[in-house]
Amino acid sequence: MTFSLHGIGVSGGYAIGRAQLYSHDRLEAPHYQLRRDDVKAEVVRFDAAVEVVRGEFDLLDQHLPDNAPAELSAFLNVHRLILNDAMLSEAPKQLIREQRCNAEWALAEQTQALMDQFAAIEDEYLRERKNDVRQVADRIMKALMGHPGIAPTKSVSEEERVLVAHDLSPSDMVLFKRHNYAAFITDLGGATSHTAILARSLNIPAVMALHNARALIREGEWLVVDGVDGVVIVDPDPSILDEYRLRQSQWRLEQQKLKRLKSSASATLDGIPVELLANIDMPQDVDEALEENAAGIGLFRSEFLFMNRGDIPSEDEQFEAYRHVVQAMAGRPVVIRTLDLGADKALPWLNKESTNPALGLRAIRLCLSEPQLFLTQVRALLRAGQYGQVRILLPMLASLNELEQALTLIRAARHSLAMEDSGFTTDIQVGGMIEVPAAALAAEWFAPRLDFLSIGTNDLIQYTLAIDRSDDSVAHLYDPLHPAVIKLIRHTLSTGRRFRKPVSVCGEMAGDPRLTRLLLGLGLRSFSMHPAHLLAVKQQVLRSQIGELEALANRLARTGSPEKIQTCLARINA
Ligand code: PEP
Ligand code: MG
Repeated sequence: MTFSLHGIGVSGGYAIGRAQLYSHDRLEAPHYQLRRDDVKAEVVRFDAAVEVVRGEFDLLDQHLPDNAPAELSAFLNVHRLILNDAMLSEAPKQLIREQRCNAEWALAEQTQALMDQFAAIEDEYLRERKNDVRQVADRIMKALMGHPGIAPTKSVSEEERVLVAHDLSPSDMVLFKRHNYAAFITDLGGATSHTAILARSLNIPAVMALHNARALIREGEWLVVDGVDGVVIVDPDPSILDEYRLRQSQWRLEQQKLKRLKSSASATLDGIPVELLANIDMPQDVDEALEENAAGIGLFRSEFLFMNRGDIPSEDEQFEAYRHVVQAMAGRPVVIRTLDLGADKALPWLNKESTNPALGLRAIRLCLSEPQLFLTQVRALLRAGQYGQVRILLPMLASLNELEQALTLIRAARHSLAMEDSGFTTDIQVGGMIEVPAAALAAEWFAPRLDFLSIGTNDLIQYTLAIDRSDDSVAHLYDPLHPAVIKLIRHTLSTGRRFRKPVSVCGEMAGDPRLTRLLLGLGLRSFSMHPAHLLAVKQQVLRSQIGELEALANRLARTGSPEKIQTCLARINA
């Protein structure tokens, strides 16, 4: 039966594919297709992994102390029984043969099927056994990952699948980047949540805030994902499929056309140059920034280097990651933001309880409470600065005290490197993010102490309007055109001009082509966004006349009524 679900389109485009219900195992597991000749060897690899786990259990058994409680031995026996059960030791092999997929994927698929079956069991005792099954499956997975197979690069079949999740965390999204899905949809999340931001960087259609898609959609069902209007159509009939195939090919044509702008200089019709920079999350994203001919990196969210791992990257590891980006950009500026962890970007070792994490120990606050963490990062940044134009960006500044403390620590990092005779740059610009209303209102006190400012509109809107950016229930209230938000942006831009300090916008507003002309009219000349949006924004820049836009933007900034603001925006974009 065909039915549709409505949410927020967070990444444009259209996809048609079969539903794959989310499980963390599936995102963690590599997925690739085997050649027919390799299937036998893959089954042997799976058997060997089961054998490794069996050996581990034997070893544990032999080393049980004499006075160990009887439950421990019983517990081991349960795990042994689970391992020997065909549901774990045989069924994945069947999947390897039938689907010609790698062993990790087969195990992840089978584990998910078992988890679903357990969830449906009424008896509480039996339902609890779910965790035992998962623990044994995890052991097999670990053994497999220790002995990887011959993996071709990417899965072929994923291109036709749509990942359906109740929620995806930013760290899930980093794993998601390794895969090749056609689209994804979630029940929760807002348009500027970090999950949505990462979705846009993948350049695949995505719809969030669908509320109960995960419960209503069944594995393998056909879905149409309309990332433009935020609609998902389940089990579409042939006429709907035809309509969306048409929209899909038109969309692709538009994207192709935009590619022609790649080598055009970014300037308005009246000759004013506009800097278009890229936001990246991982060092390898730099390739996409270069591909779209970005003038530099305006925001490297360095915290993603810290996700999906049990330890903290060392100074040398960080240095290598930053140097990779700096060298790849070959002299173009690279703005690296110091760690913005906390809130929705939580890590297991960052186990600080907070009643309201978005207002808690996040970003610079966390770094100042863990100075060693910050010093290590700054040392790596100063060392990478020898290879190009690195700029340090401090997130979530709210008070001048924080800024002074951060600057003192940067001086200390410089001093420690000088004492060691290590190679580093002595000349590095330090900028501050304006993403807390207090910082925007106090911009005249921040600007003289910094080399540049960068407006983080995602958080600026969240904190100005008191709307949790990752909460789907208030997502409809998230309004970049709210007069208070426009006022704060305008004030920050004019303060930057007054103190001759460059100001850029690196929040999602910068990558939204519907807002490009408004921001130009308000005085913005530097936009930083996901590389995927760069050409659409450039298209707007190329058709803009600053002289005209200034008057229209000023009119919009003077009105408080939402209807009038929409009318002004329509005139700006006409
Ligand atoms: C912002 O808040 O606008 C921003 C760019 O930072 P992040 O989205 O990583 O919080
Ligand atoms: Mg932010």
